[in-house]
Amino acid sequence: MKELVGHCVLCGRPVYCDSGFLDGVVRDDGKVQCRSCPEEEEPPSKPDAPKAP
Ligand SMILES: [Zn+2]
Repeated sequence: MKELVGHCVLCGRPVYCDSGFLDGVVRDDGKVQCRSCPEEEEPPSKPDAPKAP
Protein backbone atom coordinates (compact mmCIF):
# COMPACT_ATOMS: atom_id res chain seq x y z
CA MET A 1 0.00 0.00 0.00
CA LYS A 2 1.36 3.33 -1.05
CA GLU A 3 0.73 6.47 0.89
CA LEU A 4 1.51 9.86 -0.54
CA VAL A 5 3.85 11.61 1.85
CA GLY A 6 4.42 14.75 -0.14
CA HIS A 7 6.19 16.17 -3.12
CA CYS A 8 9.90 16.55 -3.62
CA VAL A 9 10.95 20.11 -2.91
CA LEU A 10 13.57 19.89 -5.64
CA CYS A 11 11.84 18.24 -8.61
CA GLY A 12 8.20 18.23 -7.51
CA ARG A 13 7.70 14.50 -7.97
CA PRO A 14 5.36 12.72 -5.58
CA VAL A 15 7.09 10.84 -2.79
CA TYR A 16 5.33 7.76 -1.44
CA CYS A 17 5.66 5.65 1.64
CA ASP A 18 5.37 2.05 0.47
CA SER A 19 4.68 -0.43 3.27
CA GLY A 20 6.70 1.61 5.71
CA PHE A 21 9.47 2.24 3.23
CA LEU A 22 9.76 5.92 2.41
CA ASP A 23 10.85 6.53 -1.16
CA GLY A 24 12.75 9.61 -0.15
CA VAL A 25 13.77 11.57 2.87
CA VAL A 26 11.98 13.96 5.19
CA ARG A 27 14.19 16.83 6.09
CA ASP A 28 14.38 18.53 9.45
CA ASP A 29 12.18 21.33 8.17
CA GLY A 30 9.45 18.81 7.35
CA LYS A 31 9.90 19.02 3.60
CA VAL A 32 10.11 15.90 1.50
CA GLN A 33 12.82 15.05 -0.95
CA CYS A 34 12.83 12.10 -3.34
CA ARG A 35 15.64 9.60 -3.67
CA SER A 36 16.32 10.56 -7.27
CA CYS A 37 17.56 13.96 -6.26
CA PRO A 38 20.95 14.50 -4.70
CA GLU A 39 21.21 15.37 -1.07
CA GLU A 40 20.55 18.88 0.00
CA GLU A 41 23.35 21.16 -0.97
CA GLU A 42 24.73 23.15 1.86
CA PRO A 43 24.64 26.88 1.35
CA PRO A 44 28.03 28.46 0.80
CA SER A 45 27.46 30.88 3.66
CA LYS A 46 29.25 30.14 6.89
CA PRO A 47 27.32 31.43 9.88
CA ASP A 48 29.94 30.46 12.39
CA ALA A 49 33.22 31.71 11.06
CA PRO A 50 36.15 31.11 13.37
CA LYS A 51 37.48 34.22 14.96
CA ALA A 52 41.04 35.11 14.27
CA PRO A 53 42.90 36.41 17.32
ZN1 LIG B 1 13.25 15.03 -6.43
